[in-house]
Amino acid sequence: DLYLASDKRYEKMVYNRVGKSGLKFPAVSLGFWHNFGSKDNYDNMKAMCRKAFDLGITQFDLANNYGPVYGSAEENAGRILSEDFRPYRDELIVTSKAGYDMWPGPYGDWGSKKYLTASIDQSLKRLQLDYMDIFYHHRMDPETPLEETMEALASIVHSGKALYAGISNYNEEYTRKASAIMKELHCPLIVNQRRYSIFDRTIEEDGVKNCCKEIGMGIIAFSPLAQGLLTDKYLHGIPEDSRIARDHRFLKASALTPERLHQINELNKLAAERGQTLAQMALSWILKDDEVASVLIGASRPEQIEENISIVEHLDFTEEELKKIDEISRE
Ligand code: NDP
Repeated sequence: DLYLASDKRYEKMVYNRVGKSGLKFPAVSLGFWHNFGSKDNYDNMKAMCRKAFDLGITQFDLANNYGPVYGSAEENAGRILSEDFRPYRDELIVTSKAGYDMWPGPYGDWGSKKYLTASIDQSLKRLQLDYMDIFYHHRMDPETPLEETMEALASIVHSGKALYAGISNYNEEYTRKASAIMKELHCPLIVNQRRYSIFDRTIEEDGVKNCCKEIGMGIIAFSPLAQGLLTDKYLHGIPEDSRIARDHRFLKASALTPERLHQINELNKLAAERGQTLAQMALSWILKDDEVASVLIGASRPEQIEENISIVEHLDFTEEELKKIDEISRE
């Protein structure tokens, strides 16, 4: 079952510059947080990666502890990369992160140089790669000096194990400080990965969206569909094959309050008026301003990826549509 990538793979996708760096992200990137673990179906994972790449999705986003079990998403990605994507390595951005709980003891969590340095070597081994494209610090560590964490990322980049550094879940203060430290260390810190969706406006409110634009850092938005809430799938109950039914770790049925369902319903109607599905409208909404370089989606099957990438055909909104979305989501 030899994979030959579609020769139309660059016909539709849009590529956006990441801050003021030399790198571009596909407008839609694929994340491996769910559905790539040790209990998930390998053939389905592989089919999703093939579908993604065939549609111009050139970025696969991982972290050391994606699974479960920890490390298994990287192991599965490594197997897929070596079976299918060896010839396309130079057309792909593969990223990983360290910063959350990974292994027992004081050196397998947070932001020490000890943790980050060991973790990238483990990730590269699982991914079967000799370098990764972006290595992220996954969350702010209030106890480790930021200088130490940044020095660790910089030495990883300078040693050639990663091409660029990234930060994730960093607030404005940490983002500004990290950026200044990395300038001194001559290390490209190009992106902040933050949660952003119609339902989660934190980066608009905490200053990160503006600050990144000002300092020339890119943003990639994770959970852009609020883990699936911003689709039509929960409007008539909880489907058996949905994240709420299948995985009780992060998205729970309690998220589906009557108020939430009302909002989803109203947004779904507005999307239909635009000629989009709700998933598509929710993703194009994030890309309407140029601060966000990419929406980082998850998927449980290839068809969702296909549906989601067609947003590149309809990225513009009228003032009236934007006002309506704000009204509905702030109700
Ligand atoms: P989304 O908000 O895109 O949710 C993805 C889920 O929504 C899918 O798994 C699927 O769930 C459902 N879905 C997707 N497309 C459709 C569609 N067209 N119609 C119906 N349902 C759809 O993103 P995630 O929360 O999965 O996060 C995406 C990525 O972001 C992660 O994989 C990871 O790489 C990154 N991330 C980073 C974090 C960080 O701290 N840096 C934290 C969290 C995520 P189903 O079909 O199973 O219901």
